[in-house]
Amino acid sequence: MADKKIIRKSSLGELFKKIRSDGKRILAPVDRGGKILFEYVDSPGSIAPDYIQTTLSAKDTLLPRCEEMLRFRTEQKSVYLEESLNRPEPTLIFGVRPCDARSIAVLNAVYLINYTDDIYRQKIDTTTIVGVSCAKCDEYCFCTSVGGSPGDTAGSDMLLTQMDNDIYLAEILTDKGKAIAALAPELFAEGGDVDKNKHCADVPVRFDVKDLSKRLPGVFEDPVWIAQSLRCIGCGTCSYVCPACTCFDIQDETDGNRGVRLRCWDSCGFAQFTLHTSGHNPREVQSQRWRQRIMHKFSYQPDQLDVIGCVGCGRCSRTCPVDMNILQHITDILEVH
Ligand code: SF4
Ligand code: SF4
Repeated sequence: MADKKIIRKSSLGELFKKIRSDGKRILAPVDRGGKILFEYVDSPGSIAPDYIQTTLSAKDTLLPRCEEMLRFRTEQKSVYLEESLNRPEPTLIFGVRPCDARSIAVLNAVYLINYTDDIYRQKIDTTTIVGVSCAKCDEYCFCTSVGGSPGDTAGSDMLLTQMDNDIYLAEILTDKGKAIAALAPELFAEGGDVDKNKHCADVPVRFDVKDLSKRLPGVFEDPVWIAQSLRCIGCGTCSYVCPACTCFDIQDETDGNRGVRLRCWDSCGFAQFTLHTSGHNPREVQSQRWRQRIMHKFSYQPDQLDVIGCVGCGRCSRTCPVDMNILQHITDILEVH
């Protein structure tokens, strides 16, 4: 049960100072020429004043685009491990939208459930999420169709909902959230027994995700995938902006007899994603890659990991250079099949 308090927007500067003094760096959404990006900030004055969704998610704090897994050196035919420099710094991510906070459950399912990835685990352990509910949405948002909502608390350690210009409802949800509130208890006042929903965006439910998951195996061989993907150029942007995409490639970079093993984001939209060394590619054409993206998120991950691999943030549709719209394609599948 969340502890509900009130905090003034004008008090956030003081809270940020306390968080910084506590040794945490703060990431928050900043406006960079119309792109809203998570950057390190010292004060709330740097935060973008008005946006629906950040252009990129904060996923790369937990799962960097390219990160060091280990270092090694070779001597003749032997390989020796060396100490890795990859140590996460305590970080607080402020202003995460509820859909993005929810996506952490998808990352956790992949990186913690069947196998504990220590590099990811360390980052999760040292990261605190302060979400901010959505007061606005656009035509690309569909969080309510995949189990979320504009004021969803899942994944946040503390969730702020703006009630009026200077007042936030603060829902303190986890021990990490309690630790943040305890840094400056004088800033958190009683009075949190309020209805936040009227301050949250109204995102209509656009499809039944359970029905979609049930029907997808039956349309595996359907020509719908060809029709939908004809204009997809396989650029991988949809995967790179997705807070819930988890695929990676591993590469070794060497310099003399020393090397670094790197884990870098990959995309099922790329032609080489499944290319075998033999030259055989089980997903030869783009329609098979597009099908994989939808099947993985809405059929395979719910079956295997009990999570939907999409949180309805809409970024893939907003940023696709050829206007592939995931929501439109899902509703088309459900209408026709
Ligand atoms: S962003 Fe669009 S064009 Fe690029 S791979 Fe994704 S669906 Fe295809
Ligand atoms: S698939 Fe698209 S809408 Fe779903 S979480 Fe990823 S970027 Fe957002």
